[in-house]
This record gives sequence, structure tokens and C-alpha cells, in this order.
Amino acid sequence: MMKHQNYKDALSHPVFTTVADAAKTLGVEAFVIGGFVRDFILKREQPTDIDIVAVGSGIELAQAVAQQLTHKPKVKVFKNFGTAMLPYGGLDLEFVGARKESYDRGSRKPVVEDGTLEDDQNRRDFTINALAISLNETDYGSLLDPFNGLEDLEKKIIRTPLEPGITYSDDPLRMLRAIRFATQLDFEIELGSLQAISAHKERIRIVSPERIVEELHKILACTRPSRGFGLLHDTGLLELILPELTALEGIDEIEGQRHKDNFWHTLEVVDNISKSTDDLWLRWAALLHDIGKAPTKKFDKKIGWTFHAHEFVGSKMVYKLFKRMRMPLNEKMKFVQKMVRMSSRPIVLSEDFVTDAAVRRLVFDAGDHVDDLMTLCEADITTKNPKRQRRYLKNFENVRMKIVEVEERDRIRNFQPPVTGEEIMATFGIPPSREIGILKEAIKEAILEGEIPNEHDPAYQFMLEKAKSLGLDPVS
Ligand code: ATP
Repeated sequence: MMKHQNYKDALSHPVFTTVADAAKTLGVEAFVIGGFVRDFILKREQPTDIDIVAVGSGIELAQAVAQQLTHKPKVKVFKNFGTAMLPYGGLDLEFVGARKESYDRGSRKPVVEDGTLEDDQNRRDFTINALAISLNETDYGSLLDPFNGLEDLEKKIIRTPLEPGITYSDDPLRMLRAIRFATQLDFEIELGSLQAISAHKERIRIVSPERIVEELHKILACTRPSRGFGLLHDTGLLELILPELTALEGIDEIEGQRHKDNFWHTLEVVDNISKSTDDLWLRWAALLHDIGKAPTKKFDKKIGWTFHAHEFVGSKMVYKLFKRMRMPLNEKMKFVQKMVRMSSRPIVLSEDFVTDAAVRRLVFDAGDHVDDLMTLCEADITTKNPKRQRRYLKNFENVRMKIVEVEERDRIRNFQPPVTGEEIMATFGIPPSREIGILKEAIKEAILEGEIPNEHDPAYQFMLEKAKSLGLDPVS
């Protein structure tokens, strides 16, 4: 094993001295391992999770550490996993006993037995995640790096400690983790790993949808998510987890007419939107905005390629996809559906002439999400023609200005009818009936069309006129 310079600097937090003291008292060896060490060396923001491995009982060490602290925090023990968690300041200390793992083909859950530090490093997913720093008196602060993880950090390489085929097949979640780390850290996945991922891609089926989604969220949160989705695509994993996306790949040509490759276009849109927003669900909307294009694609001799009603079909597909992936079927999903359903709406408005009525309708339908919708549409511009790109962006800017203008005047965003149903019933002395709905709809339409302002008195006058055509007379 190679020994490196001393890493005492990584241990400046007082918690490490406490752990070291407790370990010494118990007579066990302890090490800080994994993401904390990796991110310290990479000078990334330090994670709030710190993994401590004890050569002995991790649970006992956690309890001993808690005893040493003045406020005696409560240790959360996960007996089944042989782990314990201790909150300390803003940190979560995770304790585990060093272990050796062996896997069964049917599950991601290994059979576990006590082991040495080296056994524990062997079971880690990547060399860069297997780095440990000693908390023991004899070599406090020294780096234990059996697989040249430090070198891989310098060379920006994702590599497994053991044979990649075994590593990925044992726990196929690691395939997604490899791609996620490559995207987050901007690292390359070593060729043997890439080949093993492709070869064992079918094993992803034993990973729960929740864990898959967790990794997809993390990839989507990266600066350039296309990197991760590109790798998922190239290894064949994407087709197994999000076939709706890979179905968009390819360019068809009939009678010399071609459509764009909607898969690679989608990835560009996701990268674009990631420059303007950190909102995870808006990024999901960008990822899914065109999924309706695969099932709706048709060639028409007169007009060429069409994707009729793809936005509507796509929004239905969002529900099925969320359900299959066990993602929340709540307002987040509804938001994504709405973005997909409305994704082409501002585009017609970005022509050179925009009517106020069209803008009011857009704001009425999008409500509070109109700005997000505009952000999505701007990200959707992937033309490589700089002149066109400038023109489209300028037109959307124009739409955004109009939205502000119209909103100041007409307050459409959270539209409240200026004349209520009760007032209509009282005016005509009628019970709840179809006519009320007709009149309210007519008022709303007149406001959106700009025939009347969004104010009570003109709306009331308008309603009286309209009521005449329904044969209604006000009670005097
Ligand atoms: P992040 O917090 O960015 O996800 P991390 O490396 O801290 O990074 P965790 O999921 O908290 O990730 O895992 C902690 C450590 O546990 C990892 O650094 C790695 O050593 C090990 N580990 C986690 N998941 C696996 C796995 N599926 N197979 C093998 N080792 C793993």
C-alpha cells in the first residue's frame, strides 16, 4: 500500500479528535473514508455526511463518541445494517464496522461479515471513494490508498477497486453512480468500466426505481446534465430506464424531408435550461418536453413531418413515467405535465407581431408558471444559425415584456372573476343554473380578448347585455 503525505489538514474539525479519543479508549482503529476524503482532496465543498469506519463495532464507537460530547446527542442505530448515525453540529457522522461483503445474484443486498480496513476498502465502489485517512495515534492523518485513488483523482478517472464486471454486476446501482460522479466531477469513466456497464446493463432491473430516480435527480442537478444522459445512452442504460427518451433518437427522411433528432435536441435543451435555473422540476420538464413526439410522428405528403398534439400526448406520458418510476404524483408532477402540455404555446407568440389577447390567454393558462414556461421555451431554441437564434430570443424577450405590461393592467395571473356567481344570481333572482356559468365564461372571454377591462363595473354592464340574449331580466 502506498503511503502519501499527511492529511491532518482534513481533520481540523474538532469532531475528529473526539472520534480518535473514543476509538483509542475502546481499543479499535478508526478511519474517515469515502466522500469526505475525496471532496477534501478535490477542494470541493465539504459534504455534511462524514463516514467513519471502525475496525470493530461501528455502533459501539458511535456510542462512545456520543458519551464524550457534552450535550450527549442521541445515536441512531440501524442494527440490521450494523451502522449508526450521530448528529454533530451541522454534520451527520455515519459509523460502520469494517466489513467484507459477498453478493447473491438476485439482490443488491450483500452478505456481510467483519473484516479489515482493506476488506472494507475493497467493497467500495470506486478508487476515489475508497480513500481513507487514519484517526489512530500511530499514523494520525495519513492517507490509506490501496488502489491509487489519489492518482485517479488527479487524472480525473472513475475506476473500480476490483474487476469492473464483478463490481457492477454485484451492485448495479454502481453503474448509475459511476455516470453520476463522472457528470458531477467532470471525470472520465475508465474504458473497462464503461464496457462492463454496457455488458451488465440488464442488471439495472434489480435496482429499485426510487434509487434510480435519486441518481437521475443528481445528474439533472449537474452543470451539464447532457454528459450523464449521453453516458446513460451510450451504455444502453437509458433505454432500460427511460425508453421514452431513447425513442426520440434518429432522423427519418421521406421524399427528401428530414426532421431533427429529438433526443440530442432534448439534451441540448436540458443543458440550456440548466444555465438559467436550478429548479429540478423545470429541468425534468426540459428533459421530457418532447417525449410525445415519438408516438405522434407522421409524414404528410403536403406538410412534411408532423407531431400532432405531441404536447398533450407527452403530458399524459409524464404521468405514466412518474408512476412507473415511483416519483411523486403531486403538484411537482402536475407542474411538469403543465410545462410539457404548454411547451409550444409561447412559440406561436414569438412571431414578429404579438397581440395582447394572445399574451393574456397565455398568462391566464400558465398562471404563476408563466415565467418558467418562458424559460423552457428560450432553452428550446437550439438552432445553430446565430441570426435566427438572436431573432427568436429577441421575440421571446418581447413576449416577456408584454406579459409584464398586460399583467400590470389586467392582473390575469391569478384570475378572479370580477363579477361573482352570487352577484349574478342576486341580479336576476335565479338559483344556481347553467346560465351563471355561461355568463361568467362570457365575462372571462371578453376580458381575455380585451373587449372590457378586468374591472367590476364594465364587467357588470357587459354581463347585463349578455343576459338579455339569454332572456334574463334583472329583478328591480
Ligand atoms: P455523495 O454524497 O456525493 O453521494 P458519497 O461518496 O459520500 O458522495 P454516499 O452515497 O454517501 O456517497 O456513500 C458514501 C461512501 O460509501 C462512498 O464514498 C463509497 O465509498 C461507499 N458507497 C456508497 N454506495 C456504494 C455502493 N453502491 N457500492 C460500494 N460502495 C458504496
